[in-house]
Amino acid sequence: MKLFFRGAMLFAAAALCCGCGGARDAGRSWRYMDTGMGTVIEAVLYAPEDAASRFFDDSMALLGQLEREELSWRLETSEVFRINASAGSEEGCAISAEMASVLESCLELYGRSEGAFDVTLGALTRLWEIDSWAAGGGTGEFQPPSQEAISRAMRVCGSGQIRMETAQGETRVFLPEGMRLDLGAVGKGIAQSRLGRRLAEDAEITGAVISLGGSILTYGSKADHSPWRVGITDPFDPSAQVGTLSLEGQWCVSTSGDYERYVEAGGIRYHHILDPSTGRPAVGRVRGVTILTKDGLPGDGLSTACFLLGPEAGMALAAAYGAEALFLLSDGRIVLSEGMEAYFTRSPDRLPIPD
Ligand code: ADP
Ligand code: MG
Repeated sequence: MKLFFRGAMLFAAAALCCGCGGARDAGRSWRYMDTGMGTVIEAVLYAPEDAASRFFDDSMALLGQLEREELSWRLETSEVFRINASAGSEEGCAISAEMASVLESCLELYGRSEGAFDVTLGALTRLWEIDSWAAGGGTGEFQPPSQEAISRAMRVCGSGQIRMETAQGETRVFLPEGMRLDLGAVGKGIAQSRLGRRLAEDAEITGAVISLGGSILTYGSKADHSPWRVGITDPFDPSAQVGTLSLEGQWCVSTSGDYERYVEAGGIRYHHILDPSTGRPAVGRVRGVTILTKDGLPGDGLSTACFLLGPEAGMALAAAYGAEALFLLSDGRIVLSEGMEAYFTRSPDRLPIPD
């Protein structure tokens, strides 16, 4: 169900704050909200009303198609489903040029993150089922899987075991028996890239900010040319923000955190980012990472990878991709890449903690 709003509205998930839809912009920006890709999609569009409404409808159709035809591991109609079903077969699975390019990027990030980022953890993510528990899908008390089950699942994980071959313009991918792809860590980034392309093709949209469950795409400018402002959620109090990013033009903001999707049991928080070396939710000094990039695909993957790598190795990885990074640490500290400082303003009550 598409919801349409005129004027101010509070965004529950934080993230989109700011100067959109206020009185000065009356008649120029249009806000919509719907659900897609298993999350809440919100958009503020600067365009004539009919163009904005059409663009939002097209965007929702695009996201539905992306999920149905490419990324979902649940739907039999998707490419990921077909690839997973082919695991262990000699002939592998023929894949589209888009999927080949996504997998190549993911394999590159696997190598550059020394295995921390790994899209072959499907057997593990399905064992833990944290996304579904976090969405209220579990029954009774959450029970972490046994070490034996984790060890078994880990045997069929590892991007090093994937093979890709291209011959006569066709790429085939080969997965070992039991391996399952899970592109959950890059799905929103891929969506951001596709929506960014659509925006660039639509001359009637002069500015847009689109939130895909907290991953934000900005584009063009507002009517008054003030910057887009994107709030960074405080992991210690997800109803508050540690600060905001001020952005001009097209950017992709991607965040990974232990406060986003998790389930608690026996006083332990089990969140949805798994450490491939243990098969368990990652434990470390990081509570959240926000990555700023021009393109969504490395951006979304990087936020997951940097969460796992921590501020030192993570910062180096982000820099290698030309991305800006902001780490929120468990001691309350905020660590920024040098370039990020130009975009980030701390909330007035979040003064830096001295070293
Ligand atoms: P979100 O999707 O909430 O924005 P992320 O982008 O960080 O968060 O992706 C988390 C998702 O990625 C998990 O729900 C799971 O499907 C998958 N995943 C978990 N651990 C890893 C990992 N180490 N590498 C790649 N993907 C992972
Ligand atoms: Mg990610």
